[in-house]
Amino acid sequence: MHEMAICESILGILKEQARSQNFDSIKRVRLEIGPLSGVEIEALRFGFDVVTRGSLAEDAALEIVETQASAWCMPCGETVSIRQRYDPCPKCGSHQLQVTAGEELRIKELEVN
Ligand SMILES: [Zn+2]
Repeated sequence: MHEMAICESILGILKEQARSQNFDSIKRVRLEIGPLSGVEIEALRFGFDVVTRGSLAEDAALEIVETQASAWCMPCGETVSIRQRYDPCPKCGSHQLQVTAGEELRIKELEVN
């Protein structure tokens, strides 16, 4: 499962942060996830529980913020919002869109003990 690997890498980042900033447990992790990131949120939550078991993030609450996707439409010359990759422009129907937001998957905030 692809989400498991993502959780492993999140945990890796948390451990690194703990080392460099001197904390030993995490209370809350806030992730920002875009609709185009290809991540299934339920699977990610499950993976996070499994991966953090016995780690410094074992008791951490996982908060997920879903962001909006948007793209730059060349014919319109402006940013439009989209729901999925390969969606046409909602204004002119063009497919000449360049995704500008929605692919992100990042740790937005950490609350530590
Ligand atoms: Zn357009």
